[in-house]
Amino acid sequence: MDSKLYNEIQESFTNYLTEKNLRKTEERYAILEGVCAFTGHFDIIMLHNKIEEARYYVSKSTVYNTLDVLLDAGIVVSYQINSQAVQYELKKYAETHSHLFCTKCGSTREIKNMHIKSCLDAMKTPGFTPDFYSLYIYGICRKCKNKIQKERKERKEGKTKQNK
Ligand SMILES: [Zn+2]
Ligand SMILES: [Zn+2]
Repeated sequence: MDSKLYNEIQESFTNYLTEKNLRKTEERYAILEGVCAFTGHFDIIMLHNKIEEARYYVSKSTVYNTLDVLLDAGIVVSYQINSQAVQYELKKYAETHSHLFCTKCGSTREIKNMHIKSCLDAMKTPGFTPDFYSLYIYGICRKCKNKIQKERKERKEGKTKQNK
């Protein structure tokens, strides 16, 4: 992330904390720094590891709490991947791409499609002020598709062997 964008995000975080009368703790800024180190999606464990890599110790509950603050501040957005997993992403990045989501293994891939972006930007939403959007396309990734085909082939071969 370039320092201009980082400063911008840090400033809006500071403004939010001031506005809400929340303490500007060193921990919160260390977590923000960790968040900004990701160029794609991350989950709570990845974020916690990233912060520890920077030799800063924060408890998981502090990470959770700060993520809530960052969500509230509109700096981070979250995606409910399945009933257990939640992924996060900087809002600044969220609108730059769509997501391909594999329903078999849960992997996400990002694709850029300027056509979709311009369509959504031009879309009229009377009586509603859009803030951000994210598009998920659900399906099966190549890895899972290959696996399914392999399993199918093996089952077929197994059957012919049994018939002999
Ligand atoms: Zn994304
Ligand atoms: Zn998959």
